[in-house]
Amino acid sequence: MTLLELAGVSVHYGRIQALRDISFTVDEGEVVALIGANGAGKTTTMRTISGLLNCSEGRITFEGQDITKMKAHIRVVHGISQAPEGRGIFPGMTVMENLDMGTFGRKDRSGVPKDLDRVFDLFPRLKEREKQYGGTMSGGEQQMLAIGRALMSNPKLLLLDEPSMGLAPQFIRQIFKIIKEINNQGTTVLVVEQNANQALAGAHRAFVLETGEITHSGTGRQLLEDPSIKEAYLGVG
Ligand code: ATP
Repeated sequence: MTLLELAGVSVHYGRIQALRDISFTVDEGEVVALIGANGAGKTTTMRTISGLLNCSEGRITFEGQDITKMKAHIRVVHGISQAPEGRGIFPGMTVMENLDMGTFGRKDRSGVPKDLDRVFDLFPRLKEREKQYGGTMSGGEQQMLAIGRALMSNPKLLLLDEPSMGLAPQFIRQIFKIIKEINNQGTTVLVVEQNANQALAGAHRAFVLETGEITHSGTGRQLLEDPSIKEAYLGVG
């Protein structure tokens, strides 16, 4: 079943057009990766889906409902949650307080303990550091906290913007393993990545964005084996 659909979406920053006529779908249960170079429009796409940016043209539907004009905080209630690029955690709040911020707007408060257990199972380090201030955590730990906070709204669709950014190789491998685990637990994931190799390897389907347009699409494996993708994004040719 289609969970998310973008149809003919364009986004402008003033007179600069960042996305041109973007169309794609994310099905329930999938991991979908969006790859592309710096400035291709990956973050713009994510912020448009989470409602932080408005479309100038096109339509976004979620579970069949038109959400194009829906405010970001209402989209969270409907099941769309984003872990932003650059982590975006609250540095002056403890780990626990950061996680609690993720439950804002939740109607089923009784489900919170179960989701906290889920986050602590996925990221035992966060449990160990419950009382530590977010800003004093390492880069990898802050990334875990950002993903953990996004999971605290128990989303149907988790949006991950460059989860591997700035991480050491062992953390990168760990983050992709955890993304797989989150997906196995039933959460649909849309992940934006510059680390194309790992992202494609872990994705059911993927799209390539180039200067605001989708130029390639296929299964993760098809794109991994596509010579033009290899040359441009995978560092081999
Ligand atoms: P990166 O991987 O470098 O973060 P990206 O693929 O996420 O890149 P976006 O951040 O979505 O790219 O940017 C897409 C285009 O929109 C770029 O040309 C960028 O310069 C432009 N852009 C982004 N934010 C703004 C803004 N606030 N005002 C004007 N132009 C912007």
